Amino acid sequence: MEANPSVLATVGVGDLVLLDPLSEESLLSNLRERFLHKEIYTYIGNVVISVNPYRQLPIYSAEMVEQYCNGNFYAMKPHIYAIAEDAYSSLRDRNRDQCILITGESGAGKTEASKLVMSYVAAVCSKGADVTKVKEQLLQSNPVLEAFGNAKTIRNNNSSRFGKYMDVEFDFKGEPLGGLISNYLLEKSRVVWHVKNERNFHIFYQLLAGASDPLLKRLKLQRDCRHHGYLGDENPRLPGMDDATNFQAVQDAMRIIGFSEAEVMQLLEVTAVVLKLGDLQLSGQFQASGMDACGIQNIQGWMGSILEQALCSRTVEAKQEKVVTALSVAQGYFGRDALAKNIYSRLFDWLVTRINESIQVTAGERRKVMGVLDIYGFEIFQDNSFEQFIINYCNEKLQQIFILMTLKEEQEEYFREGIKWTPVTFFDNSIICDLIESGGILVLLDEECLRPGTVSAATFLAKLDQAFGSHEHYESRKSQSDRHITDTSLPSTCFRVHHYAGKVTYNATGFIEKNTDRLYRGLAQAMWQAKHTLLRSLFPDGDPKKASLKMPPTAGFQFKASINTLMKNLYSKNPNYIRCIKPNENQAPGQFTDELVRSQVRYLGLLENVRVRRAGYAYRQPYQPCLERYRLLSTHTWPRWTGTARDGVQALLSDLDIPPEELAYGHTKVFIRTPQTLFNLEERRRRR
Ligand code: ATP
Ligand code: MG
Repeated sequence: MEANPSVLATVGVGDLVLLDPLSEESLLSNLRERFLHKEIYTYIGNVVISVNPYRQLPIYSAEMVEQYCNGNFYAMKPHIYAIAEDAYSSLRDRNRDQCILITGESGAGKTEASKLVMSYVAAVCSKGADVTKVKEQLLQSNPVLEAFGNAKTIRNNNSSRFGKYMDVEFDFKGEPLGGLISNYLLEKSRVVWHVKNERNFHIFYQLLAGASDPLLKRLKLQRDCRHHGYLGDENPRLPGMDDATNFQAVQDAMRIIGFSEAEVMQLLEVTAVVLKLGDLQLSGQFQASGMDACGIQNIQGWMGSILEQALCSRTVEAKQEKVVTALSVAQGYFGRDALAKNIYSRLFDWLVTRINESIQVTAGERRKVMGVLDIYGFEIFQDNSFEQFIINYCNEKLQQIFILMTLKEEQEEYFREGIKWTPVTFFDNSIICDLIESGGILVLLDEECLRPGTVSAATFLAKLDQAFGSHEHYESRKSQSDRHITDTSLPSTCFRVHHYAGKVTYNATGFIEKNTDRLYRGLAQAMWQAKHTLLRSLFPDGDPKKASLKMPPTAGFQFKASINTLMKNLYSKNPNYIRCIKPNENQAPGQFTDELVRSQVRYLGLLENVRVRRAGYAYRQPYQPCLERYRLLSTHTWPRWTGTARDGVQALLSDLDIPPEELAYGHTKVFIRTPQTLFNLEERRRRR
């Protein structure tokens, strides 16, 4: 993105590159001042910082879209539409694939930002009937995925509980052809349990609030959430969110995407099955052996005996002999919950696949792509488990991409171009990525999961201690005692990773189970035997003919593979950054909590980002296009220039009395230090 002069004429500075003096304090107070004046967007060069306003601002109207799209950039304030316009126009006109990386913690505004970008692009590309249908389908994937993948958490009433990356594909004219969605790690544990004051996934409440009486009856559900075990018994209403209306919107969206009536019904039926699993009451039945064995009290007919058998007993084949053992009530409940989580997460994957079938492009022409990434931010909770570990690993990778693509790339470009330059130091987090992936914690976890014999959190932890006891980003009781540190805050079942964004203590308990993530085969087989086409199709592994002895890949392994594919994809595109900031913990408008913002400014590395931008040159352009654009400003180069482009640019710029310290001539590009010099050039050109 080119520099924008209106960044000067606004509250504070609109581009932090222009901040004077530059410090964490001045950066923070600039963001605060702007935020309090409802200026939520601020640039660092081509990066947009967005501070969540928690109120509707009148800045997203069709007129605004019009202004940014007409490229009247010079009169405009920093805006997310500017980055969207920049990405879209360079995709359309310069044929460069783009990606928009949206980062920030829960509630910072990532999902809203991704929707603003998508709706901007939808608004500015052509309005033909074919295109309108594609655009509608792409946009309508949001309410559907949000219904099934978002939930109220303490931090955000509409928190995405999955990561999402969407490639939108365009033809050579820049018109959308379709798209492809990838989803990452749904928080499936929420299906069976959520903390007080949070909710299960929206769809359950939407279904109960919005379904007609006959539909509820058909699904054998009760309208009142309190009758369903997995929904808890608090009042689930959310301010500003009408579950019944949203249910209608989700169904409409599915139809627009292209789901048939039968598919919608099947989807709702499977959703209902999950809810009803939570209502199953298991009870102990006294056995002749004196053991407590479980049985289902309220099976209500559906899938009756198959499920009872699967939940209440386990068949083990040994030496060609089948041995059936009865399970205890606790084991029965464990299996029930595992099944519910499994059905739901497979249903969610099916949903993404089904949406992709509708929006995917089949035509073979060379396409241009804009990827939008909306993925969970860094998480530090009181109690951190495997899920946080995976999420934070993903954030390390994203930070690495940010470092590589903005900070490192920038410095390397000066080096390549032979420009004199004092390197700015920044923290390179690849050492932490290595601690997790290549030969790191995830690899040792996999080894432990596959190892025969008794494995436990303790054996896993011992293995980590042995491998990383002296690693500077790893800590445990053992490594502390080796270093003669006494720290009672680190429990003996935990290990701590020093992430780029802070230290996180992970409880090793549960890592092995969550990573293995195996569903007892009897349960998969029971589902496969179900008469329901969709439910059955979710469990191909339940087909006894296909049952293989090979272990399915672990959750960590799969995640690592999909994140690495994602990284490759992102590296191949031109990156655009939106860094979202949460101004307060209360989801309240007009509140700016300094300490909260400060910590985000720190771990997003904003100050380093400004330093690199500032130490360097705000603007650069290869010689030929630069000469073409400005040669009319000097009699040396106008009407004709016969020498090399580099000499031409040099002749031209020296003729314009630009202070020499403002310019640097690289091997292939000219560099301009401050945005003002560029505005000045543009202004002279405009006056011509
Ligand atoms: P999570 O990681 O939990 O999914 P998130 O970063 O995606 O969080 P959002 O869901 O995008 O956060 O934003 C949280 C809420 O903040 C929104 O539901 C909305 O109420 C408000 N919000 C975010 N951005 C804006 C905006 N630009 N204008 C008005 N309100 C906003
Ligand atoms: Mg979100």
